[in-house]
Amino acid sequence: MFETLVTGGTVVDRGTMRRAEVAIDKGRIAALVAPGETAEAGAVFDAAGCILLPGLIDAHAHLREPGLTHKEDFSTGTHAAALGGVTTVLDMPTDDPWTDTAERLTDKMAMAQGRLHVDVGFQAVASRDLSLLPALLELAPVSVELFTADVPDAFLFDTLDAVGQALGRLAGSGTLVGISPGDQSILAGSGARDRSGSIAAFLASRPPLAEAGGIARALVAAADAGSRIHVRQINSAAGVEVWRRLRGIADASVETTPQNLFFTAADYETKGAALKASPPLRAQADVEALRAALRDRAVDIIATDHAPHSPAEKSAAYAAFADIPGGLPGLQTLLPTMLKLVDEGVIGLPDIARICAEQPAGRFGLTAKGRLAPGYDADLLILDPRRPHTIANAEQASRAGPTPFAGWTVSSRLARVILRGREIVRDGVLAAPRLGQIVRRGA
Ligand SMILES: [Zn+2]
Repeated sequence: MFETLVTGGTVVDRGTMRRAEVAIDKGRIAALVAPGETAEAGAVFDAAGCILLPGLIDAHAHLREPGLTHKEDFSTGTHAAALGGVTTVLDMPTDDPWTDTAERLTDKMAMAQGRLHVDVGFQAVASRDLSLLPALLELAPVSVELFTADVPDAFLFDTLDAVGQALGRLAGSGTLVGISPGDQSILAGSGARDRSGSIAAFLASRPPLAEAGGIARALVAAADAGSRIHVRQINSAAGVEVWRRLRGIADASVETTPQNLFFTAADYETKGAALKASPPLRAQADVEALRAALRDRAVDIIATDHAPHSPAEKSAAYAAFADIPGGLPGLQTLLPTMLKLVDEGVIGLPDIARICAEQPAGRFGLTAKGRLAPGYDADLLILDPRRPHTIANAEQASRAGPTPFAGWTVSSRLARVILRGREIVRDGVLAAPRLGQIVRRGA
């Protein structure tokens, strides 16, 4: 007798799709029961004709708390995640203050307690004071982030020496190091050459060359230090090419975002501020290179870089395009945009489970997450392939409001979201709030 049984669905796991009932006990998957075998349970979720995916893990999201809660907070951000089928959010450390000490990470975890609608893992940031790292690592953040350009000076690792020193300090810990590739010298040089404030000046400040160089530097430093790295948000053909050629020299993974798989810099002309983020959008050839890398598995993870700003901040007048606050919401639209890639034949349904659940869980050390298999947390999505879904601004829960994906229709609809065996979302409504927990590396 199981506590709960999810019946009639097709289970997606490890590249396969098969009919099975999912038996759940104490928040974990107890068994997958083959059709024809009998199982009894106290409660049943009917998923007849539906697809069962593992709950998605967004490895790159900015929940904006503390300090920036007019943009988002733990409650609104995880509400958006829940409605979108993201059952685990990995929160970035670039709030106010940045999460660079054990005390600040402890404070952040305390603030989140009791307010999360999905599970959240916290990522810390390396400041140039590397002596802060040991105490931070004791709190088991899911990653430590390292920035090589475009950040306040205290967090800037803009030379190979600085990157190498930091990676050396983190090497023995087993903790994944997230690296945002960029090049401060190009940012500074281009800024001096073109002060027009145009879209072209913004593009020139963060070109594919900066990304490609940043990736190469990260990989050679990781190989030298023997550390595990995860390269954040790549989006250029040049970056993909360097990644393909060098990835084998280190223990490394890479992510890209949905927006980079659909939009180009030409879309700035019509969507402007809504799409403004760093790195900038590229050309169609870059989108094609990224899609090819997704198809042949050179890209490991898709994460959203959910980076909300208030609608007022996005619509205000700025002297330069580069001054528009960078980032767009993504948590609630991760699943629909992945389904769009399935509809377009770029990936298959099982790939969603791999790139948005299994791989992030594996890389970031979430040992109970990411698969629909016995022993794993019962985080699962019930997807109805008979009901299309059109993304609407009105349904967005993020404080950022509108999404650039509004109006897109995908062939399947998320019917229910189950978090550790409990139904948290039904038909687009948060049915059971505040059931999220903090997850740590290795747990
Ligand atoms: Zn980000």
